[in-house]
Amino acid sequence: MIEPRKAILNVTPYVPGKPAEQVMAEFNLDDVVKLASNENPIGTSQKVIDALIEYIKTGVNIYPDGSSIKIRKQIAEHFNLKPENILMSNGADDALGIIAQTFLTEGDEVLISEYSFARYGDNSKIMGATIKEIPMKDFKFNLEAMKKAINEKTKLIWLCNPNNPTGTMLTEEEVIPFIESVPKNIIIVYDTAYGEYVTSDKYPKDSIHFFEKYPNVLTVKTFSKIYGLAGLRVGYVVSSPEINDLLNRTRQPFNCNVLSQIAAGVALEDEEFVKKAYDLNKEGKEYLYALFEEVKLPYVESEANHIFFEVPGIPSQDLSRALEKEGIIVRPQKNSFIRLTIGTMEENKLFAEKLKKVLGELK
Ligand SMILES: *Cc1c(COP(=O)(O)O)cnc(C)c1O
Repeated sequence: MIEPRKAILNVTPYVPGKPAEQVMAEFNLDDVVKLASNENPIGTSQKVIDALIEYIKTGVNIYPDGSSIKIRKQIAEHFNLKPENILMSNGADDALGIIAQTFLTEGDEVLISEYSFARYGDNSKIMGATIKEIPMKDFKFNLEAMKKAINEKTKLIWLCNPNNPTGTMLTEEEVIPFIESVPKNIIIVYDTAYGEYVTSDKYPKDSIHFFEKYPNVLTVKTFSKIYGLAGLRVGYVVSSPEINDLLNRTRQPFNCNVLSQIAAGVALEDEEFVKKAYDLNKEGKEYLYALFEEVKLPYVESEANHIFFEVPGIPSQDLSRALEKEGIIVRPQKNSFIRLTIGTMEENKLFAEKLKKVLGELK
């Protein structure tokens, strides 16, 4: 038998949200609403689509600029950074992998939280690191417990703010003292995939500049969520030039494709599109809170584009399947928890109707 590295045997393949086509085929449905992968329900900016069509007419036989300099300069200008602070990636997922490959090896310990993004643990395990999973407190990261879990083997801490899947947020008052209490030789990955959706004024304001004061903090960003580019795969890491140089050794030479570079540049400047997505998300969130109150289901208040709720006593897989039969795809979590992506108002209303129907049947 051909042996892989031992570390790989501990890794289970990532299970993404079910594709709409699969559910349509399985249940013989004409239409399906996917509220399972935190995608942008309003689609992609028309300006991005136009730019992509223009570019693709010239063909794709030429390699992308491997250093992604144009988009890095543009992001730098937008956020008052330098291009050497930015490392582009094939979605933020790629960034998480690059970080793990750059810093982790066997014998290292990493801290993750219960109910957080699965790729933190997966990427760490692939590198042979040992995972310490810290239980949450009220569906929030328990920073006190994380601090206590640090020992001389701790190499990296994965934070997600706001968190996927719970949607909960750590405040500036919580994050800054935590960062200051962590030894400076421990990497803190600060993933802000949903940062643009936050409505609270207590959210850490300037995380894109954290590295200036705290060089051990790497801020991760993505164009997959509010910018509507999930299908293209584009994200980036913001760090000190020294860390950037290390990450740059690890990444693939052309890890941000030509279309992604173009789309990201246009998406970044389409403030109207971002505002529209933000407003719609806020409206949908209030609507869904009211729904959960009405049907008396516990839910967690969210600062992201998804809501974590529970149907007590019903395994999440059962509820998820019942909803799929009705043409709604959600994301089952552990036990009876479900993660629901906030959709358009039309989608949210359809979800409300189908949820009520399914609850009636399951009880
Ligand atoms: C969606 C998501 C990402 C980024 O995904 P990409 O599509 O790979 O950019 C990163 N972190 C979290 C927590 C996410 O939910």
